[in-house]
Amino acid sequence: MVIGLDIGGTNIKGVVVDSTGVVHAHTSVATGSAMPETEKNILYCINHLQELSHINKDEVEAIGIGSAGAIDKHKGMVITSPNIPWWKNHPLSAILHQLTGYQVFLENDANCAVFGELWLGNGSHYKNWIMLTLGTGIGGGAVINGIPYTGRAGSAMEFGHTTIDYNGLLCKCGRKGCLECYASATAVVNFTKSHIHLYPDSTIVERIQHESLTAKLVYQEAQKGDALALYIFNLIGNYLGIGIANLVNIFNPEAVILGGGLSGAHEFFMPHIIHTVHALALAGMKEDIQYCITSYGDYTAAIGAAKYALDNIKI
Ligand SMILES: [Zn+2]
Repeated sequence: MVIGLDIGGTNIKGVVVDSTGVVHAHTSVATGSAMPETEKNILYCINHLQELSHINKDEVEAIGIGSAGAIDKHKGMVITSPNIPWWKNHPLSAILHQLTGYQVFLENDANCAVFGELWLGNGSHYKNWIMLTLGTGIGGGAVINGIPYTGRAGSAMEFGHTTIDYNGLLCKCGRKGCLECYASATAVVNFTKSHIHLYPDSTIVERIQHESLTAKLVYQEAQKGDALALYIFNLIGNYLGIGIANLVNIFNPEAVILGGGLSGAHEFFMPHIIHTVHALALAGMKEDIQYCITSYGDYTAAIGAAKYALDNIKI
């Protein structure tokens, strides 16, 4: 048995998995807003997973962690994480080993999502595929001939920071027109704000009088057929299609897999992605591509973190 944790800026997702790939328990806790709180919540998550799966402490062999931000996996250190700013050159693996007694293995969260999807998800059916994780930003991954490609430092496939409009919106990374400015959950919110004056009868206008505007709210209104919400997902789908058409021309994938919170709204933008890829990608590559979402939803990266630990346990 191993525990996999996916530590993001908002939530910590955890799973208990055995070496055959059976998921025995999963849970999610808040990340917290300061160093001691995050540490306490990680420990709570580990204990809670053991309770939920009815296993003894000594049945767990290791913990795998997928963390957002820049990490040094060999040192088990989080170098810097934009959404967890109190971790700077933070020796996370050593600290957790000290607190729990388990071997701890650290990887980048985007890589963990690919490992999880490759092991137990839709990725297990294909040899060549790409994945885009649609959340606050956009992460990515690629499996080439059955092997995840992670680059020299393990940071490859930053699809969110590839340009689709060189004169476009200013990105947090400093350049203009990055895909994640056009097709992330943040983009859904921003585009809704910038188009709302064109849709005075939208139910979103009424709801945001007393609620904050989120991608989830826009999704809920799309389900009810709101014209503004449907337009926004149409827009997002077209932009994603431009980004994915570029990736199709590079990777010639069998499948495009979407993950992250926003992928839950795929019914409203997937047809627009497929339409745009067909319009833009090269003949011979754009045909016969399977489009799907991750099998384990938000827990894909935690499962991949567990897999990473399984593959690295020192006996
Ligand atoms: Zn960028």
